[in-house]
Amino acid sequence: MRNLILILGDQLSHGLSALCDGDPTRDRVVMAEVHQEASYTNHHRKKLILLFSAMRHFADELRQAGWQVDYQPYHPDNQHQTLEEVVAARVTEHAPERLITTECGEWRLDQAIRQWHQRLKVAVEIRPDTRFFASQQTFARWAEGRKQLRMEYFYREMRRHTGLLMTADGGPEGGQWNYDSDNRKKWTGKPPAPAPFRVEPDTITREVIDLVETHFSGHFGSSDNFHFAVTRDQAREALAHFIDFALPCFGDYQDAMSDQEDWLFHSVLSPYINCGLLTPQEVCDAACQAYQRGQVPLNAAEGFVRQILGWREFVRGLYWLTMPDYAQLNRLGNQRPLPWFYWTGDTRMRCLHRAIDATRRNGYAHHIQRLMVTGNFALLSGIAPADICDWYLAVYVDAYDWVELPNTLGMVMHADGGYLGSKPYAASGKYIQRMSDHCQQCHYRVADSTSDRACPFNALYWHFLDRHRDQFAGNPRMTMMYRNWDRQKPERRQAILARGDWLLDHLEQL
Ligand SMILES: Cc1cc2nc3c(=O)[nH]c(=O)nc-3n(C[C@H](O)[C@H](O)[C@H](O)COP(=O)(O)OP(=O)(O)OC[C@H]3O[C@@H](n4cnc5c(N)ncnc54)[C@H](O)[C@@H]3O)c2cc1C
Ligand code: SF4
Repeated sequence: MRNLILILGDQLSHGLSALCDGDPTRDRVVMAEVHQEASYTNHHRKKLILLFSAMRHFADELRQAGWQVDYQPYHPDNQHQTLEEVVAARVTEHAPERLITTECGEWRLDQAIRQWHQRLKVAVEIRPDTRFFASQQTFARWAEGRKQLRMEYFYREMRRHTGLLMTADGGPEGGQWNYDSDNRKKWTGKPPAPAPFRVEPDTITREVIDLVETHFSGHFGSSDNFHFAVTRDQAREALAHFIDFALPCFGDYQDAMSDQEDWLFHSVLSPYINCGLLTPQEVCDAACQAYQRGQVPLNAAEGFVRQILGWREFVRGLYWLTMPDYAQLNRLGNQRPLPWFYWTGDTRMRCLHRAIDATRRNGYAHHIQRLMVTGNFALLSGIAPADICDWYLAVYVDAYDWVELPNTLGMVMHADGGYLGSKPYAASGKYIQRMSDHCQQCHYRVADSTSDRACPFNALYWHFLDRHRDQFAGNPRMTMMYRNWDRQKPERRQAILARGDWLLDHLEQL
């Protein structure tokens, strides 16, 4: 045998670099559902189902294309419980000339694979992951010499580089790079949000659901009503569904939240892009073509492309540039443990209850719920970054270290001291009231900051600003916040801080 080709669970792309010049008659593919990867965190049950089922379907597609595939299905008593053990056994059995793989999405595993040539006594070739627009080297070159990294400038470079939403004379479509200010409408039920794309589980998926229910019953989340796509063809249908039904309103309601609707106008494509069933290029192309056909407005197409070509590439580049040190950062010195209600949704704060409950049921919450509800609360409450990062990594179907960590530690917790974002996304209850209808259903009163029933976000917001004055008072983007705080009467400030102290001491009871 010539090459052994290792394909990981988030590498389910037929165009994967590890496969690109392979020869099915002389090379062999190895894939495995291993205990170590399935249980290094408390992965949502729907994530395990999605990945195991998508891997099994992908292995079948490879076999149909003539590949020999060694596939290890999950069983708790498997002889080989780690990827290294699986690969070592295949190397011993087949004595390949080389092991070929594509860069993985996690620093921990990357470090392990880089030792394999010594540990397993086989030549190991690690190929770049060409499914991203920017290679790790391209990003590192862009970042060189910059004290702070700003997504907006990187995004403009990427627009120029790819030509996406660019005019013939090299300017941004519509004359502006960014239509963020047109992405902030509150949603009041109209136009109705489209039903999410659904695939009924087939035999393979049903077997995997049984397996996960049997062996991962202690994991977070519900496996009920599993409806995610598990093949590339199905994921392409999900993309078409999004372009036709949700993208037209995506821009307007990108920042909206609803007490009734879990998905609003979001694409719900991250689970598929992240595991390789869709490429970021085809997803961006589809949105740009819909704009060119006049099917969707520019603020929708640009808002969507910015998330993928901008944010997704940016956080990935930042992750590989700064790991492993990045994961240890805690510039605000936060130490509080994560309240237990993050796992149960059992809190009287309606916005948090709805975001966590949707997460538990679906393995999904949209960006503003992650950033401005669960994230904002963790930031204001001073939760230890490691705790909240573990939570985000566990609870979402689309969660992988390279994308979860910069979003949580950098964007939400500001634990990198502002390397990723120019100011913390801290907000009081007023923001949540403006962007949602949660407050009308809440036990707490959003207009109040100091009474027993006052919205906890309010006092916690001012308490956060006050206790971190040294870090933030000099930040020009926060001058107005401090001016508003300082303008309040001393008795009022004292009452708010006292309420904030009480809340921080009683987080579990909120
Ligand atoms: C604390 C926190 C943790 C997050 N963890 C993850 C994670 O583990 N995995 C993940 O894919 N995204 C993560 N995100 C980013 C974002 O919330 C999700 O990508 C998005 O909610 C996925 O839903 P969607 O496909 O409906 O997105 P849409 O709103 O439809 O956006 C379109 C696409 O843009 C990309 N995207 C949007 N925002 C980001 C972003 N900030 N970073 C990277 N890609 C982005 C995604 O691929 C997404 O599918 C996190 C955000 C926060 C604030
Ligand atoms: S009142 Fe406060 S806690 Fe309740 S939903 Fe509104 S923002 Fe959330």
